[in-house]
Amino acid sequence: MKKLLLIAVLMPHLIALGQDRAIYEPVPVRVTPSETGSPPSDAIILFDGSNLDAWNRTADDGPARWHIADGAITVDRDVGTIKTKQAFGNTQLHIEWRPTDVIRSSGQGRGNSGVFLHSLFELQILDSWDNDTYINGQAAAIYLQQPPLVNVTKPPGEWQVFDIVFTAPVWEKGNLKSPAYLTVLHNGVLVQNNVELQGATFTPQPEYKARCGPYSQEERIQDCTGKMPITLQDHGQVVSYRNIWVREL
Ligand code: MG
Repeated sequence: MKKLLLIAVLMPHLIALGQDRAIYEPVPVRVTPSETGSPPSDAIILFDGSNLDAWNRTADDGPARWHIADGAITVDRDVGTIKTKQAFGNTQLHIEWRPTDVIRSSGQGRGNSGVFLHSLFELQILDSWDNDTYINGQAAAIYLQQPPLVNVTKPPGEWQVFDIVFTAPVWEKGNLKSPAYLTVLHNGVLVQNNVELQGATFTPQPEYKARCGPYSQEERIQDCTGKMPITLQDHGQVVSYRNIWVREL
C-alpha cells in the first residue's frame, strides 16, 4: 500500500521530467558485499581452503585429490583435470590463482593451467610475467580466440585474481540460439569485455555442438541443458588456486 502511494505521488513528477520509464519492481535482492576477498552472502562456495567436496576428477568422476595446503589447492598430475560436481549456467565466478615461482621453462610451459567455463571455453592461466608466447594464449586470453585487452600479470609466486561473468550459450531444439559471452577482470582490470565466444576452445577449430543430454567427458561436446560444470585444467605444471566462489545469475 505504501509503495502504491509513493508511485501515485511520484508519477506526475516523473512523467513531467521525462522519467516515465522508471521501474519499481522487482526490487533487487539485498546482498552483503565481500570484505577483503571473502565471498558475498549469496555465493556458492567451491573452495574455501578446507576441502574439495564440491569437485570431482574429470576423467572418472572420482574424488578430486589435488594437494591442499595453506588454504590453497595445487594441480596434481596424477589426478589430472578436475570439475565441479554442480553444473552452472550464467555465472559470476571469482577465482584466485598462483603459478609457481620456480621457473623451469618458458612460453606455454610456464604456469599453464586454465579455467574452463561450461567445461568448454578456456580462460587461460599462464605465468605471463616477462614470458613471451602467442598473445591469444597468454594469461587471461580466451584460448586461441581472444587476447586480453592488457597484460595485468603479477610476478610468478604472487596470488592473482580472475573475476568472471559468463553468459552461457542458449540452445533451441539442438540449434544454437545465442552464443556464449565472457567478461573478465584480471587483478581488478577489465581484460575481456563481453566477448562473443566462437565455440569450444579445445577443438581444432572453435565450434558449437549440441547434444540434448547430460554432459559427457568422453564426447567432450556441448550439451543443450544450459548448465555445465566448471573445470580446472591440469596442464602438468605447478599452479595453485584458492578462494573460489560462484554466483548463479
Ligand atoms: Mg591452459
